[in-house]
Amino acid sequence: MPLHWPHVSRREFLGQAAGVTASVLVWRQGWAEDSRADPHSLALLADTHVPSDPATTARDVNMTNNLRQALAEVMAHAPKVSGVVVNGDCAYLKGLPGDYQNLAQVVQPLVEAELPLHLTMGNHDNREALYAALSQQQPAAPPVEAKHVSVLETPKANWFLLDSLTKTDVVTGELGAAQLQWLAQALDARADKPALLVAHHNPQFEPAANGDWGGLKDARALFDLVASRRQVKAYIFGHTHDWRLTKLGDVHLVNLPPVAYVFQAGRPNGWVHAMVQDGGLRLRLQCLDNAHALHQQTVELTWA
Ligand SMILES: [Zn+2]
Repeated sequence: MPLHWPHVSRREFLGQAAGVTASVLVWRQGWAEDSRADPHSLALLADTHVPSDPATTARDVNMTNNLRQALAEVMAHAPKVSGVVVNGDCAYLKGLPGDYQNLAQVVQPLVEAELPLHLTMGNHDNREALYAALSQQQPAAPPVEAKHVSVLETPKANWFLLDSLTKTDVVTGELGAAQLQWLAQALDARADKPALLVAHHNPQFEPAANGDWGGLKDARALFDLVASRRQVKAYIFGHTHDWRLTKLGDVHLVNLPPVAYVFQAGRPNGWVHAMVQDGGLRLRLQCLDNAHALHQQTVELTWA
């Protein structure tokens, strides 16, 4: 089980985080030893679109500040989450080295707290640039060549973090034959617990009217694979920047909200607290705008 958190020594941290107040610093320490961290709870983020320059804004949103706020909320959350997932489009548009350097600064409080961070790759990401800035994200032995995938085994469910990036700044997503083959084997080896699939792109089964594939182009192959593996209970994605819950057969489709900007005015941005339970998953939407009508909307997904 690859655990993704970039190791930075305490001395390096203090050198880089001069603006962090001492009280917060003390409070953040010792996450890993803290038995109160809930192994069933994860923070789910997507579409952070962190730019190289922390001052950059888009659609009236400062993406760096949005992620800072979301992570501060995650770290203050009770119960304490046992990990943080950023489900793709971590970087702004072109997966630049500077984007990931800025991202590395923003996630530094998690590093210091030893709170595991797991990133998946979206269409605006770049694996090599990610690994250059956050070297511990790079697995020593990638389960799938040239893809960034991992499995998080938690007491009540296994989370499969998949890679649907085809080429940086190309909108179409694809898992590819090699990853699907690995996934089938990885699922078969873990048939005893609910499986939750996490990838950046929304499933797409037909091309758009103009022939475009803006979502996951091999969704058909993925869901054919899922059909005979009944332990798969949910597919969790981002990409559309639109919080939405639907189902495909018995599989829950969870479209995470963006941490960055929404594409449609009035829709929520923020993050989701996910807690695996016996027979289901409880999701609570944490809007960055605490006055949003959907703030703390709680949804109970159930499965047989
Ligand atoms: Zn995005």
